[in-house]
Amino acid sequence: LLPRATPLYSEEGAVAGATLVLQDVTRLMRFDELKNDLVATVAHEFRTPITSLRMAIHLCVEEVVGPLTEKQADLLHAAREDCERLQTIVDDLLDLSRIQAGRVELHRRPVGAAALLDEAARAMRQAAQAAGLGLTVEAPEPPLTLSADPERVQLILGNLVSNAIRYTPPGGTIALSVAPEDGLARLQVKDTGAGIPREHQERIFEKFFRVPGDRSGGVGLGLYIAREIVQAHGGEMGVESEPGQGSAFWFTLPLAREG
Ligand code: ADP
Repeated sequence: LLPRATPLYSEEGAVAGATLVLQDVTRLMRFDELKNDLVATVAHEFRTPITSLRMAIHLCVEEVVGPLTEKQADLLHAAREDCERLQTIVDDLLDLSRIQAGRVELHRRPVGAAALLDEAARAMRQAAQAAGLGLTVEAPEPPLTLSADPERVQLILGNLVSNAIRYTPPGGTIALSVAPEDGLARLQVKDTGAGIPREHQERIFEKFFRVPGDRSGGVGLGLYIAREIVQAHGGEMGVESEPGQGSAFWFTLPLAREG
């Protein structure tokens, strides 16, 4: 039941009473659940055909099935990119439905922060180079050990770095770093890109929100999912950004207890 109270005022303006409306939201919640189930089912059903498509395109692009003309290669490269995008959207939708069903399972263990940053940089180095961007990693001595789900953190870092690559013009730099802060670790991905208009800096973490006019193919779930996962770890996530100068996305994670 969703309660809503409205005060009633006397002619002198004093509170003389109140109305209390109780609305039965069972059906609404049921609808939300159905919607969530539908999204999860559709996303799940898309996975197998996307995998087959990717495999078929891969075999063609690598010329396993025969030589390609330049035109064919161009078309197949475009098809491959679209497939990657579809895969990301489907993965995001599945994550979203898990989050909404309260089913984010974390597999926490002690893990070195520097190793996670190095791995993210290694995975993204080629894409950064292709975009004409430098990629640096800075981690303190002595090393910091997190208590976190390494796969989830890796996904968040990958997401932040791929956003940074997308929104930074050639010649720029993406800097990954970690530092201790108030008994936690603060991880950061900083770029020298477009930046984010001030009025949108908090909204980019909302579900399905994308900066108006942004025509790169996502659906606006990446940062929402990232923040939910950080919060499930007991951390926080935010951005500091100066339009035209760049953005620094940061998040905090708990440290593993020594010994
Ligand atoms: P998507 O998954 O569609 O990329 P995100 O949640 O990752 O969505 O990002 C939401 C919006 O935030 C994007 O539409 C983009 O406009 C903005 N954004 C994210 N990262 C950056 C960045 N590094 N620089 C500038 N804008 C960014």
